[in-house]
Amino acid sequence: MKHHRNKLMIPGPVEFSPAVLNAMAQPTESHVGANFVNTFKKALEQLKTVFCANSYQGFILAGSGTFAMDVAASNVLEQNDQVLIIDTGYFSQRMVQLIKHYGLNPDVLTAKLGTVPSLDLIKETLAKKDYKAVFLTHVDTSTGVLFDLKLIAQQLQGKDTLLIVDGVAAAAAAECKTEEWGIDIYFSASQKACGTPPGLALLMVSPRALALAEQRKKPLPNYYASWQNWLPVMKAYAQGDPAYFGTPPVNLIYALVESFTEIIAEGMEIRIKRHLKQAFAFRQGLKALGLQTIPQTDSVAAPTLSAIYYPSGIGSELIKSLAENGVVAAGGILPKFQDQYFRLGHMGCCNYLDLIAVLAALEQALYSLDYCCFDLGSAVAAFQNAYIKKNFLE
Ligand code: PMP
Repeated sequence: MKHHRNKLMIPGPVEFSPAVLNAMAQPTESHVGANFVNTFKKALEQLKTVFCANSYQGFILAGSGTFAMDVAASNVLEQNDQVLIIDTGYFSQRMVQLIKHYGLNPDVLTAKLGTVPSLDLIKETLAKKDYKAVFLTHVDTSTGVLFDLKLIAQQLQGKDTLLIVDGVAAAAAAECKTEEWGIDIYFSASQKACGTPPGLALLMVSPRALALAEQRKKPLPNYYASWQNWLPVMKAYAQGDPAYFGTPPVNLIYALVESFTEIIAEGMEIRIKRHLKQAFAFRQGLKALGLQTIPQTDSVAAPTLSAIYYPSGIGSELIKSLAENGVVAAGGILPKFQDQYFRLGHMGCCNYLDLIAVLAALEQALYSLDYCCFDLGSAVAAFQNAYIKKNFLE
């Protein structure tokens, strides 16, 4: 049977709200006209609220999440800097490649699949060198592993080391008190829990990271990514003045403001709890089907997506079967393991009704592949029980 309305449940891009999509369709204005300048100003103000960093400098740039990674690294590092990357999956490894591309040789602390390195190991590693910066991934989208940012931030308190966090699959859904915890750069992209179609790189930068960037003797070579080019533009827009370096994606900015307005109206605390609650209930649904996730414990399981092992004897045909049942899922992307698991996103405006539908489709898909070791409805029932009983909102 042909489904005309599939649910896009990959871990980004996600489905966007009708108001956000409508905002994209407004007539495009001049990027230096008063109306657009005020819209950009509002987006920068809202970014402070959503990323919890009131006194930080925001950057809203045309580019994907990888561009945000490039901006973060290439604006603060210089040759021979000691850098530590805590590796929890594919996107941490991309940061390793990116930094190596600039001629640096970062230390990499790789976690066992589905875990984060122990606090003792992190402490031991940090004690070995004076690192200029530590990079880590808040939620690695390849593994669904969540990093406890508060814990690492505490370890770096009082030190000169910059803490730089990839929040592409976490921002606007997982708790991050960027400024309070002393995270120097928290960056993300528009297409996940920030609720806006792909195309925007979003960064919040601490005053000390900006100052350090200025003091570099041999800055890494960059141009489109350079803060020297973008900082005057962001500062001008923040004051309500027009400025130009590269044409901003005007309609995406309309959409971002609409999405941030929805996010702020929901309330950051409630939104974070909603994601935790939905993700927890979703995992109970998976367990009821006998499925296992890559994150080994609830404490390292992302609120934004689940990376789920295929049951034995089944492979990527499950993704095909899910699509036939109306749900678009993503395959694995972690080299060596990519054929062993699939991924489903549960972030942004996706709510409990969507997740009940996804679990029902998963039950159907598994049955159609002769994986029938559960009663139909049991994943949905497990979700419902967890969702109703687990009172996250109190
Ligand atoms: N970091 C993480 C954690 C991601 O999930 C992604 C994208 N899935 C990226 C970086 C790269 O973002 P993009 O694909 O938008 O370049």
